[in-house]
Amino acid sequence: MVDERKSTLVTEDAVTARAEAPAACASDIPSVERLLQSASFVPLLAQYAHTQVTVALRRELERLRGLALAGRLVLEALDAGTLAAAVGADLARRSSPTLRTVFNLTGTVLHTNLGRAVPGDAAVQSVIRALRAPVSLEYDLESGGRGDRDDLIEPLLCELTVAEAATVVNNNAAAVLLMINTLAYRREVIVSRGELVEIGGAFRIPDVMRSAGAKLIEVGTTNRTHRADYADALTARSALLMKVHTSNYAISGFTASVEVAALAEIGRTRALPLGVDLGSGSLIDLARWGLPKEPVVRDIVAAGADLVTFSADKLLGGPQAGIIVGRTDLVRRLKKNPLKRALRVGKLTLAALEAVLALYRAPELLADRLPTLRLLTRDARAIAAQAERLLPRVRAALGEAYRVTAASMMSQIGSGALPVDQLPSFGLCIRASRGSHRSLSRLESRLRQLARPVIGRSADKALWLDLRCLESADEPEFLAQWEGLGG
Ligand SMILES: *Cc1c(COP(=O)(O)O)cnc(C)c1O
Repeated sequence: MVDERKSTLVTEDAVTARAEAPAACASDIPSVERLLQSASFVPLLAQYAHTQVTVALRRELERLRGLALAGRLVLEALDAGTLAAAVGADLARRSSPTLRTVFNLTGTVLHTNLGRAVPGDAAVQSVIRALRAPVSLEYDLESGGRGDRDDLIEPLLCELTVAEAATVVNNNAAAVLLMINTLAYRREVIVSRGELVEIGGAFRIPDVMRSAGAKLIEVGTTNRTHRADYADALTARSALLMKVHTSNYAISGFTASVEVAALAEIGRTRALPLGVDLGSGSLIDLARWGLPKEPVVRDIVAAGADLVTFSADKLLGGPQAGIIVGRTDLVRRLKKNPLKRALRVGKLTLAALEAVLALYRAPELLADRLPTLRLLTRDARAIAAQAERLLPRVRAALGEAYRVTAASMMSQIGSGALPVDQLPSFGLCIRASRGSHRSLSRLESRLRQLARPVIGRSADKALWLDLRCLESADEPEFLAQWEGLGG
């Protein structure tokens, strides 16, 4: 693709830049029909078919007509081979996918704008199978009758979380919406003031509450909420106690919050369910790999939460989805809500999710097989060695205009998980030699234009490329792109 762009540039040069080349006028422009019959267009017609090539060729000839009127058209631009090359480059550019594969060197492993978790090869194989042939999505192979798509992964989710039942929707925001709408429509939901979070991308607990048709009852204060605050707020209209994991910020200092077990107990005395929005939520204790502690779903279930919701594409490392686990009777109610039909996931999501969840059955191998965990557990020394290895190539490619050094930096988990904790990492720090801000932003822009764009983080008049998420298998592709970037 890079080469195709180059060839467009060459064509434009040929058309405009050579003052001494023989000039042409609009009447010299050959007809579409004649050009399409020339040998130069045979390969294009084979690849893109008649309709597309015709449209692209008309567009190109229109452009040349404009040049002719401006007196800037040269005769050699009308050569069939030159025209075919220009049309080919245009078609290639237009047919390349707009959802591009990028290098995430931002230092944020679960970057929401870059699609969060990369589910990896196990999920890929499973999704490919589901794309190639019909699947038993809602078909019970035992009875031959109608099945429920949730049945496919409910047992696996229950096994991994010790919950009684489980269901899956489009994302965690949908999970929270479904839970509140099902259990508390036109009634009250009690939440601590310290947990009225905004997650970004317009997910705010008070707004979700309103959309779900429930009334939010705030209790406690920003920094401290006690058991009595919840107990005192209970009325005949109370329907749900809710706890929200404050995933993207931390309140420190003089603080108090009520644990899940204590809240569950308050709920039980009044037969009110406790719903916990865990946000990221992990299926396994990350401390096992020396990572910061994040609540584990099975612990929250064991502590007495009646429903727990969490994202599948955050720490879990799967595709975008929202998972709800908990009491059988409550999950049954969720499934009966017409909203569930609107929020349900498709077969591709279920295929990917099942494959990723299955990896959790072998926790010893998880850090090897699950990309998210593999990246989070990369050793800083290995990343440092990688930075030293790449440094000379990047330096050589960028030349004198930039100063490149290997530098230590801090990665973040991202997606709201563990906001305070950072992971020591390493990467490349690029500064413009003459300190020019313009040349640095020009480089960033060129990195974004690459066939596989390189996305870094700019701060302190430098571009920081955190190498935590550059796996060694991707290094050759990464390096090949740097050639010719300098100057
Ligand atoms: C991320 C998050 C959400 C939203 O989850 P999505 O999967 O992005 O819809 C909701 N609540 C909390 C606490 C979160 O961390």
